Amino acid sequence: MNNCSEIAIVGMGPTGATLANLLANRGVSVSIFEKQNQPYALPRAVHFDGEVMRVFQSIGLSSEITSSSLVNKGMLFKDLKSHTLIDWSRSQDIGPMAWYESYRFHQPDLETALLNGLKRFPNIQTYYDSEVQKVSDNGKNVTIELTSGEKHISQFVVGCDGAQSAVRELIGEKLMDLGFKQRWLVIDLVLKNDRPDLGDHTVQICDPDSPMTYVRGTGNRRRWEMRLKDHKLTKITPNDVWERLKKWISPADAKIERSAIYTFKSSLAKKWSAGNIFLAGDAAHLMPPFMGQGMCAGIRDVANLSWKLTAVLNGINKSILETYESERSPNVREFIDLTVRLGKVINQTSKTQQETTKMDSIWPSLGPGLGKRSNIEGQLAPQFLLSELKKSDDMSPNGFYSLKKQKGRFTSTNVKAWLRNNNIAEALIRPDGYILETISENENENGFNIKNINLSQALPARKFFG
Ligand SMILES: Cc1cc2nc3c(=O)[nH]c(=O)nc-3n(C[C@H](O)[C@H](O)[C@H](O)COP(=O)(O)OP(=O)(O)OC[C@H]3O[C@@H](n4cnc5c(N)ncnc54)[C@H](O)[C@@H]3O)c2cc1C
Repeated sequence: MNNCSEIAIVGMGPTGATLANLLANRGVSVSIFEKQNQPYALPRAVHFDGEVMRVFQSIGLSSEITSSSLVNKGMLFKDLKSHTLIDWSRSQDIGPMAWYESYRFHQPDLETALLNGLKRFPNIQTYYDSEVQKVSDNGKNVTIELTSGEKHISQFVVGCDGAQSAVRELIGEKLMDLGFKQRWLVIDLVLKNDRPDLGDHTVQICDPDSPMTYVRGTGNRRRWEMRLKDHKLTKITPNDVWERLKKWISPADAKIERSAIYTFKSSLAKKWSAGNIFLAGDAAHLMPPFMGQGMCAGIRDVANLSWKLTAVLNGINKSILETYESERSPNVREFIDLTVRLGKVINQTSKTQQETTKMDSIWPSLGPGLGKRSNIEGQLAPQFLLSELKKSDDMSPNGFYSLKKQKGRFTSTNVKAWLRNNNIAEALIRPDGYILETISENENENGFNIKNINLSQALPARKFFG
């Protein structure tokens, strides 16, 4: 084992694997430790959004990932009479992220693409069968110790080790319980025969006695999720599965890929870091899967943290790392709160027929942190199609760029229209796609804040390591 690296990552789930790609792509030397001997083979997440696809674009994996994904039609909340209570249909056109708004995918395919992505980098070491059991930070660097007794030293450690995070425990952090706790049965089927009648939308059946969800997966995959009333049930037989599904499907049309019982929870870490040790993904927050945002939140975490860590390794003051939690925690909290509110809809129904409500996706701003917060600064910037193949983030993959009304680099009419509509002459876009600073049309300003210019110049100035 290589016994030192700049950054050590604990856990090779989607959060850790994305972080490793982001850091390695910026030339950082990374070691990633996974306690299992191979990637987790069973599906959990089935949905990600256009913002997350933008992160995959930044690590050069969008074609691998889109090739096994499906554009999502959206979600309908129905009552027992099949009347639609909430219609959250998703646009089938390319949206403001310059990707589709929402995708369906098979988590093992995504994880394979991310892990294959790691093989591109000489500056990354992957270790399977390597369970981290101890983490100690002396203020200058962090030592992790594996159950095998081997030790590894790095400047920073990021715990991407999931809901039961050992790193979180080891640094003495706790998850705040945000009040949602329900047991649900998740059944994944693979169709043997075409069943177009099941539909392409995800359907939430809002039934106080037996709420459930039908999910259209990629290819022949279909999922049913059902709330369990029996709190003692720990195992389910194939006969039970078919009995519960008999209203929709039988063994003649599908085979069971797996069934599992989960306790869906809502919680948030009180602190996301201690010294040089950080938490990301499920290690820092949990939410029920009703919006399909748990993994997405983890990808957003590492999109935020990765460029700040790189900037610090490149000489920027360490205090920037304090903005990781302050920016990310309120953002993920909005997703958790909305998910829990939707969970309440799924668990209830009104006797009187309600009008159908149209729902839109949310794009919460960052919490307080770098720069000002306004209806533009701290918000996610749109991404623009500059030509058939080029998107605006490609102008500076992994770094900052500015959008401005000038002849030359950005000639897109969409960029000009966006600047005009927001009354700005120039916008500085961060590597995670959020807007750091703008220069307004009316004010006679000299340019961006010098601190922001220094920060933007610190990325991505490194060469591949090794
Ligand atoms: C039924 C279900 C449906 C879901 N649907 C969606 C969805 O549609 N969209 C969405 O965005 N999210 C969804 N989620 C949530 C999503 O699956 C999780 O948020 C996501 O998998 C978390 O990724 P992670 O990398 O943070 O953690 P994990 O995927 O849990 O990965 C953590 C990794 O760390 C390893 N590890 C743990 N401890 C150690 C240690 N001490 N040393 C070394 N390695 C260690 C583990 O083996 C594991 O590989 C769903 C979840 C469930 C249960």
